[in-house]
Amino acid sequence: MKCLICKHTRMNDGTTILPIERGNAILLITDIPAQVCANCGEPYIAEDTARDVQELANETLAGEISYAEARGERKILVTAFA
Ligand SMILES: [Zn+2]
Repeated sequence: MKCLICKHTRMNDGTTILPIERGNAILLITDIPAQVCANCGEPYIAEDTARDVQELANETLAGEISYAEARGERKILVTAFA
């Protein structure tokens, strides 16, 4: 695998964080397993993992943030991908 940013080819196992925004609400998903470029630190998430992250985000947002809330004050939720 080659880094799209710096063309480096060495990746380390690591984790990353993804912010997902819905209206004024922001969901931060932490501890997502990723391949991290050994040179520049750019994270790469596997397709399967990305799909799971999206599902987790949908579930969390549907359960915890109403549409009205999402239009109100800025709200930040943090959930770990495990
Ligand atoms: Zn890189």
